[in-house]
Amino acid sequence: MIRTGRFAPSPTGPLHAGSMVAALASWLDVRARGPQARWLVRIEDADTERCLPGMGEAILAQLAACAMLPDAPPVWQTQRIGLYVKALERLAAAQLAYPCGCSRKDIDEALVRQGMAHRRHGERVYPGTCRDGLHGKPARAWRFAATKFQATQPSGALRWRDRRLGDQQQDVAHEVGDFVLRRADGPWAYQLAVVVDDADQGVTDIVRGADLADNTARQILLQRALALPTPSYLHAPLVLGADGDKLSKQNGASPVDTASPGAALAALDAAARVLGLGPTAASSPADALAGWVPEWRTLYNPRP
Ligand code: GLU
Repeated sequence: MIRTGRFAPSPTGPLHAGSMVAALASWLDVRARGPQARWLVRIEDADTERCLPGMGEAILAQLAACAMLPDAPPVWQTQRIGLYVKALERLAAAQLAYPCGCSRKDIDEALVRQGMAHRRHGERVYPGTCRDGLHGKPARAWRFAATKFQATQPSGALRWRDRRLGDQQQDVAHEVGDFVLRRADGPWAYQLAVVVDDADQGVTDIVRGADLADNTARQILLQRALALPTPSYLHAPLVLGADGDKLSKQNGASPVDTASPGAALAALDAAARVLGLGPTAASSPADALAGWVPEWRTLYNPRP
């Protein structure tokens, strides 16, 4: 098995301090596994509404300026739609995906009727309204029958282990409900695309920001439903803004400056600090990266 890691940015803006940490962490984790291991970059542009033209290229240029070069040509999700179509067809054939005709308002009303908790992390828990049919409504989305599938699993809640955060668990059926795989207006949901792509690209080790940890149980459930292997997970520390919130493109995190080797080195050094790595005395991004590899090995113990 070739150990394979990846960085999978959404092209909604250039890299900012937070996405730089995820890029660096995933790169170091692969390099610390030895020369056979592969680092891939996937531009996650399946969620077409939030993506901006030219940003995928801009991110690749920033990575190159930081001497983080993928071991295979980067892939773009919009060129891989056929894979997602097939996965959805397989789930539907196994009666593990179904169309849903509910608007947000329909869902809110059903939640009130059922006396259910409205939202978790700002997201609606799906009350199962179209599980037994569309009730004459047109389909607006395809949902994964998470509740039905989770009931076939050995233990109630889904348990998984994070290499940094330790044991985790989530009862997807109750905390999330049957989640969306594809929206009717076209875009593919992150959950389905990421699971299909990671398996298709042979990704064995996922390293990404801790803001995504909450998605992992959903993704493992989908992997099992599609009979795909489950990679290892490490969710890296987040960069926090002055207000204590996670930095994101949405709350205006500014792009990292990689316009000169000195600027790129400073951006890498700041990201390394977030990951618990020491300051670098190197004079180029490539030398700095090489210097952090043994430190990463000690901190996070990646297997060759
Ligand atoms: N595309 C996602 C993002 O930029 C990350 C996906 C992942 O690493 O699983 O937030």
